Amino acid sequence: MSDDNGKKKLSRRDFLKLAGLAGPGSVLLSAGPLAAADAEAPKGPQATQVPVRPFGKTGVNVAMLALGGMFDIASNQLLLKQALRWGVTYWDTADCYEGGNGEVGFGQFFKKYPETRKTVFLVTKSDRRDPQGLSELLEQSLRKLNTDYIDLYFVHGTKSINELNNDTKVWAEKAKSQGKIKFFGFSAHNNMEDQMQAAAKLGWIDGLMVSYNFRLMRTDKMRAAVDACTKAGIGLTAMKTQGGGPVSVESEAELEMAGRFMKRGFTDGQAKLKAIWENPHIASICSQMPNMSLLMANVAAALDRTRLSAADIEAMDLYAAQTRTGYCAGCTAICEPAVNAPVPVGDIMRSLMYYHSYGDAELARATFSSIPPEIRDGLADVDYSRAEALCPQNLRIGELVKKAASILV
Ligand code: SF4
Repeated sequence: MSDDNGKKKLSRRDFLKLAGLAGPGSVLLSAGPLAAADAEAPKGPQATQVPVRPFGKTGVNVAMLALGGMFDIASNQLLLKQALRWGVTYWDTADCYEGGNGEVGFGQFFKKYPETRKTVFLVTKSDRRDPQGLSELLEQSLRKLNTDYIDLYFVHGTKSINELNNDTKVWAEKAKSQGKIKFFGFSAHNNMEDQMQAAAKLGWIDGLMVSYNFRLMRTDKMRAAVDACTKAGIGLTAMKTQGGGPVSVESEAELEMAGRFMKRGFTDGQAKLKAIWENPHIASICSQMPNMSLLMANVAAALDRTRLSAADIEAMDLYAAQTRTGYCAGCTAICEPAVNAPVPVGDIMRSLMYYHSYGDAELARATFSSIPPEIRDGLADVDYSRAEALCPQNLRIGELVKKAASILV
């Protein structure tokens, strides 16, 4: 099959073969000839496009796989081009990713291929909450991204809905009326369910990006939170979808799960994405895809229509149960008030998760170093026993915090 330029175009079947989803025992390959695809700007719809889903009541359909730009996208322009060719048209970044260079990388791409801007659903985030800070960071983002509008603008990483107020609402309405943003919302790694319920009551939140994975998605609390957002017309994007934690826990179920999925033609990583897509109310999954192999594997998972069976989900649930004590569920409203100092336990667990699960020491150190030095210096002297007693995941919080303080400096 050839495209208009006479270049080789892959059928969906070819694509799945390459990406390891075509049959039992197949393995993921590097991007190979796809990575070396033509040097022209991405073209229109092709046979291997990631499906789209409606994003809440915005009227916009977004790709169900989003590219998280928390990596060196400045030197990874080929990957951005290939993402578009495969229909990964939802791109996510933040003012702080890669020390601010995440936005620069997307901006370089839009400068080189300005015609692609309108095909991308572009998300960036602000680490400031006050109206002046939001305005300053929005202007900075627009400059770095080489664009005059952001599709969805998030307040970055709220722990409580109280970080937003009427000033935030007024600011968002003004930015929308000026055409600088189309939609507004926030992202959350912590206390997601409570914040989702609260957002659903506000009436001025268009979209949310929250930690959501095979570990979190089956609790009654999370189901109710997704329900509330769906009823309120809030678009939902899942992040932290692989369910990695701050520490590795041995599990017999892990091998059994990986073997089961491999026989069915996909990896356990792809299965974890598919588990989330089983919920039609999750519009998209945001995944950090710093190389072509991972992009390809995730696109293949999105294109593949094999449904997970009840036994597949059971295997995943068993693995989740056996590794529970290695996962931080982000419920910082439980542990942080139980510590006799202002220790951001959730951020520290996330730093360790980047270190252990992502294998990204740089990101782990950057996250850890965002904690004020006066708090970091006193971490070893804090009493974590009450927090540990309350932690629903039974995490050894004190030991982990001290470990972070020793390896992430
Ligand atoms: S350490 Fe425990 S209580 Fe604290 S956020 Fe993580 S899982 Fe929740």
